[in-house]
Amino acid sequence: MKNHTSTLDIVKASKSKIEDTDFENLTFGKVFTDHMMECDYVDGAWQTPKIKPYGPLQLDPSAKVFHYGQAVFEGMKAFKDKDDHIWLFRPDENFRRINRSSERLAIPAFPEEYFFSALEELLKIDKDWIKKGFGNSLYIRPFVIATEEGVSAAPAKKYKFMIICSPAQAYYSGEVRVQFSEKYSRAADGGVGFAKAAGNYAAQFYPTNLAKDAGFQQVIWTDANTHEYLEEAGTMNIFFRVGDKLITAPTSDRILDGVTRKSVITLAEEFNIPLEVRRVKVKEIIDAAKSGELKEIFGTGTATVINPIRGFGYAGEKYELPKLEDSYAKVFKDKLMKIQYNETEDKYGWRY
Ligand code: PMP
Repeated sequence: MKNHTSTLDIVKASKSKIEDTDFENLTFGKVFTDHMMECDYVDGAWQTPKIKPYGPLQLDPSAKVFHYGQAVFEGMKAFKDKDDHIWLFRPDENFRRINRSSERLAIPAFPEEYFFSALEELLKIDKDWIKKGFGNSLYIRPFVIATEEGVSAAPAKKYKFMIICSPAQAYYSGEVRVQFSEKYSRAADGGVGFAKAAGNYAAQFYPTNLAKDAGFQQVIWTDANTHEYLEEAGTMNIFFRVGDKLITAPTSDRILDGVTRKSVITLAEEFNIPLEVRRVKVKEIIDAAKSGELKEIFGTGTATVINPIRGFGYAGEKYELPKLEDSYAKVFKDKLMKIQYNETEDKYGWRY
């Protein structure tokens, strides 16, 4: 039974939860729409994808995802423009990335036509959950879990590919101060840092809690070998502005190939902002902060688009960044959001 069928089974929810949802007071990722997509991998093939009412799963307690963390995920957003058209931002990148993550976790690749036809249908069915207005969006969470029962430590023969969706508001994360990691690492050469593997995130919680106890909101991870180079944050790639120049680390085995990062690199070229993609030494950033040359640090990621960093800590010292009128962070955020909400031309073909 190896053949893919391109049909989609749809069962609609008997009652919508939308009336009970307070769209003015959403906590990120807590409320989900009426429907979800579920597709099982059994007998060596992905079966017909289903759209069905959002609800709990029933899994065997020995399912491998619970024991060995064989799971990957993605994060993307849908936006509604003034004319009620719904747009995705570079979803082909997310699709390719989830299959790259899957490959690293020995999970079978998911077919492209299943992904896009199910996603489009799901967004059509739950379109009322996407609110208009700059900053409102629908956060989309595709993920794959190993469902085969049995605790032998080997790749599963059964999986579930799912898509769930959660309405999101423009979210202001408050002033973010970060700690440069001196001890803990999130990724190693030859490891899974480049994949959106569930366990990468679990492993960050403990050191991030320690950073929170020390007064920081997030950790900027450094390379596992020397801790001398700055790599990325927990769910964001990181850019440093020294003078007029932007610097960001190259993607690697250890660093996620972020869609927002990639887009900022393209826009920097368009805006004639000098940009270097190279390893970033902790020492050069400390020196630049001391000399006043360090103008900005910002994170890039789907959840907040561009997240300006107010300050950082390293080796017991705290550093604050200047408040700029003409920040690069603002220029990139405005441009990216205008593209996402169909308020400017899309010369790179990023809207879908
Ligand atoms: N790094 C990590 C570790 C992440 O989880 C994310 C979020 N996907 C990012 C960077 C930013 O990637 P993107 O711009 O594709 O959201």
